[in-house]
Amino acid sequence: MKVEALLKQMTLEEKIGQMTQVTLAVVAQNGWGNQDGSLDSAALRKAIVNYKVGSILNTTAHAFSADVWRNMQTQIQDVAKTTRLKIPVIYGLDGIHGQTYTLNATLFPQNIAIAATRDPELAALAARVGAKELRASGVRWNFAPVLDCGRQPLWSRFPETYGEDVYIGKTMGSSAIKAAQEGGLNSPSAVAECMKHYLGYSAARSGKDRTPAYIPEIEMREYYLPQFREAVKAGAATIMVNSGEINGVPVHANRYLLNDVLRKELGFQGLIVTDWEDIIRLHTRHLVASTPREAVVQAINAGIDMSMVPGDFSFFDLLREAVQKKEVPMSRIDDAVRRILTLKMRVGLFNDPYPESDAIANFGMPEYQFIALAAAHEAMTLLKNQDNILPLSKDKRILVAGPAAQSISALNGCWSYTWQGKEEQWYPTDSKTIAQTITEKSNGKVTVASVKGFDSPENYDVNKLKSMASNADVIVLCLGENAYAESPGNTMDLALPENQLALARAATSTGKPVILVLTEGRPRLITSIEPETKGILMAYWSGKKTAEAVADVLFGDYNPNGRLPFSYPRSMGEMVLYDRKHTEDVREIFNSDMTWDGYNPLFKFGAGLSYTNFEYSDITLSTRILHGSAKLTVSITVTNTGDRAGKNTVELYSHQQYASITPSMMRLRAFKKIDLKAGESQSVSFVIDKNDLSFVNAQLKTVTEAGNFDLMIGDKKATFAYQTQ
Ligand code: BGC
Repeated sequence: MKVEALLKQMTLEEKIGQMTQVTLAVVAQNGWGNQDGSLDSAALRKAIVNYKVGSILNTTAHAFSADVWRNMQTQIQDVAKTTRLKIPVIYGLDGIHGQTYTLNATLFPQNIAIAATRDPELAALAARVGAKELRASGVRWNFAPVLDCGRQPLWSRFPETYGEDVYIGKTMGSSAIKAAQEGGLNSPSAVAECMKHYLGYSAARSGKDRTPAYIPEIEMREYYLPQFREAVKAGAATIMVNSGEINGVPVHANRYLLNDVLRKELGFQGLIVTDWEDIIRLHTRHLVASTPREAVVQAINAGIDMSMVPGDFSFFDLLREAVQKKEVPMSRIDDAVRRILTLKMRVGLFNDPYPESDAIANFGMPEYQFIALAAAHEAMTLLKNQDNILPLSKDKRILVAGPAAQSISALNGCWSYTWQGKEEQWYPTDSKTIAQTITEKSNGKVTVASVKGFDSPENYDVNKLKSMASNADVIVLCLGENAYAESPGNTMDLALPENQLALARAATSTGKPVILVLTEGRPRLITSIEPETKGILMAYWSGKKTAEAVADVLFGDYNPNGRLPFSYPRSMGEMVLYDRKHTEDVREIFNSDMTWDGYNPLFKFGAGLSYTNFEYSDITLSTRILHGSAKLTVSITVTNTGDRAGKNTVELYSHQQYASITPSMMRLRAFKKIDLKAGESQSVSFVIDKNDLSFVNAQLKTVTEAGNFDLMIGDKKATFAYQTQ
């Protein structure tokens, strides 16, 4: 095989060069200040010829045109061709919700909003477009999807997660991976995916990015590992490691997690790349390695294949020293390089490292806009609709207000043409704001109180809002979060900032009905303003077509069907998740009645209204006693009893009545979205078996214990017994 033959010819330097990944700024003219994608040919030769680096990543200031990206790739591969073994360079970019760093690439809803669609096919469609636009930019490695389970809403990367549920994470993540890698990595419409960030990154105790997590192994296996197990089965080509630490051990130095669990137990064969600067940080931040070389030794021996160094060549020098001193065995180096070369082979770089004409043609196809709109539509989650205030008649006089009303960045969020997503000059010129789409759709008089610039003081002028409200029938108030990514998104408080709450109070004080539109990546607390609002639409950060989808839903041109992928907390002290234990439900008051309403978020996991009504029949089961590995068919009939067509996601939850480990009150086991005309009925069936009812026991084994199970769909419940034989 070519990989083995190549490996045999390689010097130590050539091998460790392959394991080295640097950021674009290292080889770009003006480094981080590079504005046009031009490369510094001397720096490029230093990296690729002298240091023999195998991989480059990232952008400098912002997104570049597809042409610039392709030129850049061509120049890079041209230099790689001049090296002794002519090994091509693999380039990686973060296509988190579409191709982040190519101008005019189509941006889709963030994962949190994709989770709300409850439609794995949409996750696939979006991932496929992202892959095509990345490959059309000459890049074949995508640092996505994020598979971290979003169980800590303070975390600044919550929007990149599929929310708090394990099953949704598994389903959406594997669907995206399969789609992006469809046809094989060699296909001009595919990219190698990188599941991340293994493992437990989202569970930081403080909620701050890259801070310690403490995760007992039983919890790790129940909530954080299954998404990665499923992604490995789906064929994910590569994996990125969590920058943080678990139980005091930085994951980059955790041989148990990288080798025993990921390699041996999950059977992952692909490449393991570090996250940003994470090897040296074992020395500079985590303080587990007393020297920079010791940091390299720990990480490589733990199982890291490639180091995202990324700002210099220190890793190369340190690893060479470590190998020469026999601190890292040659077998480990060969193992890493074999995986890197195999990846390069699989993505077709050895055949043709240059941007492929078949791939280029896939950029910016008109249908991507429809997919983006469909995904944004399905993400829209209607949380409140008092007195059927929505949909709005198009003749109403509407006042549109709030900092998000004239913003584009607050509709897209992180990883949107820049890392932070805040700089609107890089967005496509046909991107729309909510003020704009409402104005376009309305037949009545729309006035807009907001101005451009999320933080502009005028957007928080309560007097202006009040005086403009006097001529309106209804106020659409657009609140939420402007874009942020990673540590800059750390927040001390989950509540909406006081200036936004004040705006909401001013709006409701006018006596006009207020519809809240929330464009946010995580649930910002709105408990104090919610009672006075008539309608609440959660729009998340739903990408390019967020504003179109919001207006369509507000005016009833689209019937909303999104479902919350997380529990929307009532307050900071009420962070109970839907799959809680029974003891979290109990509220015991001394000498008083006990209540069982401990799970009392403002909006429950799975919440989401429609403009029509759905009724569920009783649940029917194919058997009341399930034996061994037999299958159980669970069926229900759904009827659209309202007067308009609508989509409904039927969600199947289970609860084991008694088990050796305290059972969850409910766990989502399956879901299916159906589309029903007014008056129409449809039967929905799920086939489950013991694997769908399992949990991790005290011996850390995934088991299904005999016992009685409740199955819940909507307000219906059925019970059956499981017997192991
Ligand atoms: C992030 C990763 C990302 C990497 C490269 C890091 O800061 O944590 O998710 O893939 O940067 O951009």
